[in-house]
Amino acid sequence: MIDLSPYIKIWQLTMDTLKKEEVVPVPSYESWFEPLKVVDFSNRRIYLAAPIEFVREWVDTTYKELLKRYLDKVSQGEVTDVKLVLLNSNGTYTPDNENENENETELSSQPAVAKIPKPISESMRHSALNPKYNFESFVVGNNNHFAHAAALAVAEKPGTVYSPLFFQGGVGLGKTHLMQAIANFVLENNLRAKVGYFSTETFVNEFLNSMSNKSTESFRSKYRNYDVILIDDIQFFSGKSACQEEFFHTYNALHNNGSQIILSSDRPPMEIKGLEERLVSRFSGGLTTEILPPDLETRIAILKNKAFMEEVYIADEEVFYYIANQVDSNIRVLEGSLNRIIAFAKINKVKIDRQLAEEALKNLIPENKSKPITLELIIQVTAQYFKVRVEDLKGSKRDNNIAFPRQVAMYLARELTDMTYSDIGKEFKRDHSTVMHGHDKIYNRIEIDPKNKKFIDDITKQIKKM
Ligand code: ADP
Ligand code: MG
Repeated sequence: MIDLSPYIKIWQLTMDTLKKEEVVPVPSYESWFEPLKVVDFSNRRIYLAAPIEFVREWVDTTYKELLKRYLDKVSQGEVTDVKLVLLNSNGTYTPDNENENENETELSSQPAVAKIPKPISESMRHSALNPKYNFESFVVGNNNHFAHAAALAVAEKPGTVYSPLFFQGGVGLGKTHLMQAIANFVLENNLRAKVGYFSTETFVNEFLNSMSNKSTESFRSKYRNYDVILIDDIQFFSGKSACQEEFFHTYNALHNNGSQIILSSDRPPMEIKGLEERLVSRFSGGLTTEILPPDLETRIAILKNKAFMEEVYIADEEVFYYIANQVDSNIRVLEGSLNRIIAFAKINKVKIDRQLAEEALKNLIPENKSKPITLELIIQVTAQYFKVRVEDLKGSKRDNNIAFPRQVAMYLARELTDMTYSDIGKEFKRDHSTVMHGHDKIYNRIEIDPKNKKFIDDITKQIKKM
């Protein structure tokens, strides 16, 4: 094995130069170049290994020519070629189509290098966009790594790689943030791009208004004219068939124009109740990425990043651990808790430490938070509440006085734990569609009449008390 240290140095110098000359925007640089490792060198060709195939492929197709030019310049001709390979877990790498034709590389397309960001004020014409939702402020963790990489890839080359790009994930996990980061990125790099970000609710309302005002033509020309369109929370199309019909045609028109379509939902298209089959198949036809709840490490990183952005200095590390341990799924709640602590410290003119954090969050965080909610617990409390036996709840009886509590337990299991429909189904010896049906039945009942929510709230309270 040859001594790689001179080439590692050349690679570092190349990265420094790319950074200094602002050849690529910082987020692209951090996502694509920083993870690369020098693993080999031969015949003036440097081998850079990427941690995952997605990164390898993206750098290979997008930045290879650029890297070659800069490596050549920085090394004064010592390195003239680059090969992107995949890093294995044991530190070795997998050579990829080693015998490729040299001429083919020469023919490969020009690098599509994104331009340097322009001042935000100029490009922020789109009032629905929050300029704070950008790639710089998005913390990448194990839970969202792939979603982030896909978002950045699409932002760099809209309309060419993955359409639609579909973000799926629970409430407060960063779907809207990532979508708006794409929109902001595209606008910053191309002032003339037509970028539209809409909530599904806005689409639905504008469509219904256009129907009653007889202005569907202008509605259509508005929505069908974007280069990049982002529709957030499409689970709200559930049960709205006229709007789905319209969206189907909007979708097709955009797709035929080669527009980039980006969608989000809190569940997979297949599980959106009452979503037309033809939409399900279209939505599932691109790249779907799931955002999971963040792990402890990521939650702490998000909190630190937020404190940094708010220019608040917190010396006591315990504060971050404390909050991150209390709030384990919703990032909006996580941020809210930190804001509350900051406000509390300002009002009382004291410094932020663990004790103050506890004081500030006292009424927000349920006691006994430490005990996790399990399916067993949910079944037990639900059975008690309805005065039925646990075995019956898990058994096969279909009498309504059993079936209904069972559906409630299924609903609660889905709402209060991270379990999937099929996980829950296993416990009830039923398949995932039965659980989904049970969940949705209760969900709809609550929606039709919020009064029905009371018994759900009562059971939930009891579960949390246990
Ligand atoms: P969703 O649309 O999935 O419900 P949002 O995108 O609105 O969630 O995120 C909720 C809040 O959490 C926002 O303020 C967002 O900036 C923040 N947030 C979510 N994920 C991250 C992350 N990875 N890094 C930094 N902030 C995040
Ligand atoms: Mg959202």
